[in-house]
Amino acid sequence: MADSTLKGKRILGTARPPKATNEQRTCAKAECETLLSRYNKREFCYAHAPTKFPRLRGRIIPET
Ligand SMILES: [Zn+2]
Repeated sequence: MADSTLKGKRILGTARPPKATNEQRTCAKAECETLLSRYNKREFCYAHAPTKFPRLRGRIIPET
């Protein structure tokens, strides 16, 4: 009987470690003590991150 077993290849090379910094970071807002995730590249916590609103639908009807 023919050998029909499928064989996978072992992953070669080094597995890339997740980008992370070792030091603990806190929010850039002065009085905020929120610890940022090592994987969070932003300098503010979610509460203090400057909000950007995506494109708004429709148009603004000026009040008369
Ligand atoms: Zn904050």
